[in-house]
Amino acid sequence: MFDLTTRDIKYLSGVGPRRASVLNKELGIYSLHDLLYYFPYKYVDRSRIYYIHEIDGTMPYIQLKGEVLGFETVGEGRQRRLIAHFSDGTGVVDLVWFQGIKYLVGKYKIHREYIVFGKPSVFNGRINIAHPDIDEVSEMKLSSIGLQPYYNTTEKMKRAFLNSHAIEKMMGTVVEQLNEPLPETLSPSILVEHHLMPLSEALVNIHFPANPDALRKAQYRLKFEELFYVQLNILRYARERQQRYRGYIFEKVGDVFNTFYAKNLPFSLTGAQKRVLKEIRKDVGSGKQMNRLLQGDVGSGKTLVALMSMLIALDNGFQACMMAPTEILANQHYGTICELLYGMNIRVELLTGSVKGKKRENILSDLQSGAVKILIGTHAVIEDTVSFSSLGLVVIDEQHRFGVAQRARLWTKNVQPPHVLVMTATPIPRTLAMTLYGDLDVSVIDELPPGRKPVTTIHQYDNRRESLYRSVHKQVEEGRQIYIVYPLIKESEKIDLKNLEEGYLHVCEEFPECKVCKVHGKMKTAEKDEQMRLFVSGEAQIMVATTVIEVGVNVPNASVMIIENAERFGLSQLHQLRGRVGRGADQSYCILVTSYKLAEETRKRLEIMVRTNDGFEIAEADLKLRGPGDLEGTQQSGVAFDLKIADLSRDGQLLQHVRRIAESIIDNDPTGILPDNEILWRQLKALRKTNVNWASIS
Ligand code: ADP
Ligand code: MG
Repeated sequence: MFDLTTRDIKYLSGVGPRRASVLNKELGIYSLHDLLYYFPYKYVDRSRIYYIHEIDGTMPYIQLKGEVLGFETVGEGRQRRLIAHFSDGTGVVDLVWFQGIKYLVGKYKIHREYIVFGKPSVFNGRINIAHPDIDEVSEMKLSSIGLQPYYNTTEKMKRAFLNSHAIEKMMGTVVEQLNEPLPETLSPSILVEHHLMPLSEALVNIHFPANPDALRKAQYRLKFEELFYVQLNILRYARERQQRYRGYIFEKVGDVFNTFYAKNLPFSLTGAQKRVLKEIRKDVGSGKQMNRLLQGDVGSGKTLVALMSMLIALDNGFQACMMAPTEILANQHYGTICELLYGMNIRVELLTGSVKGKKRENILSDLQSGAVKILIGTHAVIEDTVSFSSLGLVVIDEQHRFGVAQRARLWTKNVQPPHVLVMTATPIPRTLAMTLYGDLDVSVIDELPPGRKPVTTIHQYDNRRESLYRSVHKQVEEGRQIYIVYPLIKESEKIDLKNLEEGYLHVCEEFPECKVCKVHGKMKTAEKDEQMRLFVSGEAQIMVATTVIEVGVNVPNASVMIIENAERFGLSQLHQLRGRVGRGADQSYCILVTSYKLAEETRKRLEIMVRTNDGFEIAEADLKLRGPGDLEGTQQSGVAFDLKIADLSRDGQLLQHVRRIAESIIDNDPTGILPDNEILWRQLKALRKTNVNWASIS
């Protein structure tokens, strides 16, 4: 038996060096093995041949069997097209091509029998099929019996005549060469217990399904395997880490925590906050190193939970630090935490890129001596120059800009790795969390502090601006404050800023009774701070801003947020922005303003925003609409998203199923010695070697 992984694609018949190089570059296909794992994205039922007298212009793809009666070239310039009159004896249709006319006339012969496949439509009262697939009847062996595979291709591939059809042919050649079964990649007991199709059979059927049922089984087997190894990899990694490192034990809750709880805490904790704090206490008291993900919707009170966890660290003689993704957010946390700890004599410092010189030196040396108890900052806090006297807990706000590999860097900050609490402001769908952060335990704050009224969200077209402004005037009269947000996207920063400036002037004209302030990312810090101050203090009633306010401000009196060009924002961004209102006791509104012309997907996005305030529901919807690859931040997360066949938005149940299986395997065979599992560890090792993303966390 030959080894598919080392067999170069260029030696496959019909490929050669030139096409091989296109396959290398466009799809990363180098070996026959790579090719076999390039799966179709759809299948078309070619088991039925239609008669021409049966078809009309409303049908999906169909196939016909017949002959070309004659060719004709019509039109001039870009209208020029080749028409073949095609008949099966029951009627005539026109096959139409706009490109490759010369080539086609030479290729297809009159009065020879062909199978034509395409989508019929009606033009000038005649049925035609544009750019159909055409095969000689004798060539239609493999797929004529049923489902035909369709493969994604790129423009460059098409230019090298590597269309879906060509790939199908190559695949057919490889499959024919598979005289012996390929080595199995799952253990016999898993195959038997979960009724999985053997690997070779699955690979053949994924490309050339014998029937729909075989296709279903092949897909299931391959998805199962793919998700299973993602989970096994992550769980195995977490287990190894647990065995290698002990965690610091925070034995007690002491004076710091108790004083805060009795004297400083301005309200009572919600049930969810209490529950999560208990989960955290259990972790940090257990002797294992905590790695916990704290999920909670905007405004659910995560910061407070983080702070109280840090106080437990202090009670046990440790320092704590908190990391935020941006300076604005770090500043905000610093302000909030200093305020909450007022009068408690705990030294809290802020360390960001803009803290320099003497000030920075002081902070660094006082960290080392242990005088600084809590450090808040940006990624600056994990630079090599920062060393602690006894770092016990790290809180990371907004995980998804902070991958597994970066988290690992934190562990070098003390003799044993500190406990890690990761907070996400954007809730992540369960399926995604399990793949992204499968090595983390998860806590969820699923309850908002009492007294919050859900924000009412309205979608409005920009031609109704007058009535919109009327209601804004009314809100201002009642003493409320208003945000007006403009998009800011990097590529068109100049245009965006112009929009913002024009918007600002326009708003000033429309609301002569108001003081209007303005904030955007390009401003000097001092200027920005001053504008912010105007709004926070209530001197300004309207703030015109870009998304910098997404994380920046907390003004309970602001009850209306107008988002201009809302179609240009992602769902999670809209949700974050909306979280800036609804913080006070009044009914709040979020108005999404767009033009009338919207893409279908955009319309769906806005509908979701109007329908629900639930961040988890929004995140799920986002995942379904856009797919996991596009979700904010996932690219940097350091986790494989090149899933070949499984789809996180659809295969959530299967993911949970295989995770339980992977867990039980690791539980039953923690050191990896059971003979039945040998195949699994070997396969895992091979995958880690070939998968760049996996390598970074192993
Ligand atoms: P998150 O970071 O989860 O978006 P925050 O921690 O910023 O939310 O909390 C939002 C607001 O709710 C803050 O003003 C905070 O002081 C307040 N808050 C937090 N917990 C409670 C609680 N138990 N009761 C009342 N208000 C709370
Ligand atoms: Mg927060």
